[in-house]
Amino acid sequence: MERSLVRIQGDASGWACSNCGWTFPVPTLLSGDEAMAAYDRLAAAKFRDHKCEDASLPAPKEPPKRAADSAVAERARMLIKRGYKPKVAVELVLHEIEIEHGRDRTFMEKAHADAEDFLMKVRKGLI
Ligand SMILES: [Zn+2]
Repeated sequence: MERSLVRIQGDASGWACSNCGWTFPVPTLLSGDEAMAAYDRLAAAKFRDHKCEDASLPAPKEPPKRAADSAVAERARMLIKRGYKPKVAVELVLHEIEIEHGRDRTFMEKAHADAEDFLMKVRKGLI
């Protein structure tokens, strides 16, 4: 892609690349034609050397989250609908999950955290 050195005007004066985010700010205190000319040359040299950031490349994505969801809240809600008290419902769900995933410590930790979160929301009347 074509790129060119463009002059930035305004609050932050200096130079920028027309093709990417590269900038070369000029010190605001800079004064005098000679100093400006020297700075312009420096900017031109830096511009020649810089590598354009490739905007066509997608940003690195976060690794996908664990698909397995303990679904504590959902299961507990089902039990509550059937007449169980929230605390009992959560305990039953955790027990079920432990039978299914008991060996998976990370999973169980998440399930317990979800259970706590669920009970807290119930207490606050959010559910
Ligand atoms: Zn560039």
